[in-house]
Amino acid sequence: MRVLAYGDVLDLALELVAAGREISDNVVLLVAGDQEEKIQGLKGPNEVLLCKDVKSDDQESLVELITSIAQDFDAILLPNDRRGRELVGVIAHKIGGSSTTDVSSLRLENGVLVIERITLGGKAIAVEELSLPAVMTIQKGRFKPLEDIEPEVREIQAPKIERRIEVLEKKEKPRVGVPLDKAEIVVAVGRGFKKKEDLKLAYELAEILGGVVGATRPLAADLKWMEEEVWIGISGVRVAPKVLVVVGASGQQQFSAGIMDSKIVVAVNNDSSAPIFEHADYGVVMDLYQFLPALIKKLKEAKGA
Ligand SMILES: Cc1cc2nc3c(=O)[nH]c(=O)nc-3n(C[C@H](O)[C@H](O)[C@H](O)COP(=O)(O)OP(=O)(O)OC[C@H]3O[C@@H](n4cnc5c(N)ncnc54)[C@H](O)[C@@H]3O)c2cc1C
Repeated sequence: MRVLAYGDVLDLALELVAAGREISDNVVLLVAGDQEEKIQGLKGPNEVLLCKDVKSDDQESLVELITSIAQDFDAILLPNDRRGRELVGVIAHKIGGSSTTDVSSLRLENGVLVIERITLGGKAIAVEELSLPAVMTIQKGRFKPLEDIEPEVREIQAPKIERRIEVLEKKEKPRVGVPLDKAEIVVAVGRGFKKKEDLKLAYELAEILGGVVGATRPLAADLKWMEEEVWIGISGVRVAPKVLVVVGASGQQQFSAGIMDSKIVVAVNNDSSAPIFEHADYGVVMDLYQFLPALIKKLKEAKGA
């Protein structure tokens, strides 16, 4: 069994390598783009294939690159982010392989590749057998990077491609503050907020506490009140702050799956039977529109502002 791992963010790619090691002693990491310096001293994979002339944001070239070397591998592991989810089906289709996403564990049973993935919106775990070659995305944070092997680095050339997509323009998204998954204090907001403008209460609280604001999926994905990157949960970001304040979110399983590594959870909800209280260390049963202004006032007074 030979495994290829590809991820444009190296930390995440090393998690994929660790995942690959569950089923193989031969895990190769593919690195694309101008990352020669970053891979100096990197440990974990048996080999690193470096392709400098494919940029990690060029999906067409990436697909061609991965499929051009895929015949040497039985399994291809990708990150479970947007890029990985875009690539998985296309690559599986091109190489005639099986594909799946959200993989949380993988093993070999009598030579058969068996994976587990959360399904039915977090209510069940599916156990699936995959035929080879298999292409899959691996959930973030499931596998601890290994630092045991010093890999050989081999440079490879990008295959020539006939482009069918022309990129006309690229715009950088402004990055504000610490990324949600690294933040030590997070204020998570849900549909208890009636209007987008009311979120300023959450931003004010986060600013006083020195934290960042995250959201439930409906606020980011359906109402589009916030960026997609800030939705917490099974299909979003997993947070692990020292303090998480959840305001006006019911705490459905799919959201709560993303907050389990938080150290202290404070929940504010006007419904005492909301499931979020099952995960909370401190619960406040109150209308957020009364509680937040009062809390902000107290914190400001305490800070002498
Ligand atoms: C496949 C799948 C994947 C999903 N993935 C995710 C995911 O990753 N993340 C995610 O968040 N969701 C996800 N969901 C959606 C999830 O099931 C819930 O629908 C969602 O988390 C609910 O968001 P919410 O808590 O903001 O809204 P609601 O469930 O509507 O909760 C609003 C809460 O606000 C409280 N409230 C209302 N007014 C006030 C007030 N004035 N003061 C205080 N409290 C108030 C209410 O009591 C209620 O508890 C997924 C669903 C599916 C099917």
